[in-house]
Amino acid sequence: MMKLYAETLYDAYGQQFSIDKVYFENKTSHQHLVIFENARFGRVMALDGVIQTTEADEFIYHEMMTHVPLLAHGQARRVLIIGGGDGGILREVCKHSAVEHITQVEIDQQVVDMCREFLPRHSAGAYDDPRVSIVIDDGARFVRENTDQFDVIISDSTDPIGPGDVLFTSDFYQHCSERLADGGIMVTQNGVAFMQLDEVTTTANRMGRYFSDQHFYCAAVPTYIGGVMTFAWATQNAALRQLSTKEITSRYQQAGLTTRYYNPAIHLASFALPQYILDALEGA
Ligand code: SAM
Repeated sequence: MMKLYAETLYDAYGQQFSIDKVYFENKTSHQHLVIFENARFGRVMALDGVIQTTEADEFIYHEMMTHVPLLAHGQARRVLIIGGGDGGILREVCKHSAVEHITQVEIDQQVVDMCREFLPRHSAGAYDDPRVSIVIDDGARFVRENTDQFDVIISDSTDPIGPGDVLFTSDFYQHCSERLADGGIMVTQNGVAFMQLDEVTTTANRMGRYFSDQHFYCAAVPTYIGGVMTFAWATQNAALRQLSTKEITSRYQQAGLTTRYYNPAIHLASFALPQYILDALEGA
């Protein structure tokens, strides 16, 4: 009888994966972690019953969470990643040779360790990049107490349940705004809008207090079920969201990136939101 992994993120609706092999399963000091093999999606990692990443579709999320802010910024030298223990965001940031320093603040050492061992293609050696410093800490505490400035902040967190909850608070957004250098951009993982529409309006209300240009962009990631996922966007300069296709294309080519989902047309189109999201934001 084939064992199944049933995601528990939503009541009354969900996805399940056949488990061909379990590589790791344990309660870490912060959350339940499992990494298993699935015939359709390759190696899959879940935390506290919620699918975090799969080998088959991770490129969509990691490319969109990284190249949209970095290419919109155009001259990012210092990048802060909050969460991201699987290493996918780190891998994509390291592709930008102009970036000089990357700080990653991940709360769970065991997620980093197990993903380096069992999901090696996610980080693809990025943890050994000399530009990288890994801090094992709560990201909310780091942005509150650290005084460094960053050009881009990427919050690649779990959902607002468990340790990730603090990464969706007004305090967190306020402290991130204080950590951003002039011309800085912050993006965050903000859930699947059709299923978690309140996350969009709550983030808009909380983030909008500290950033003059707060918006969302989106992409559909197959294993973040329920439709398009929104990424929250926050800057003090609306022009960063309105670059021309020509400019984005020039920066993309200049960066010499190889991508499988991201391209300049998708970059700009991703900021076009479905009407139900715009209506919800109107009412927020
Ligand atoms: N792409 C996934 C998604 O969209 O849900 C997120 C992937 S990544 C595995 C999420 C990471 O956030 C995990 O490694 C988790 O340990 C980390 N995390 C959760 N709460 C955190 C906190 N307060 N500070 C730092 N990292 C945190």
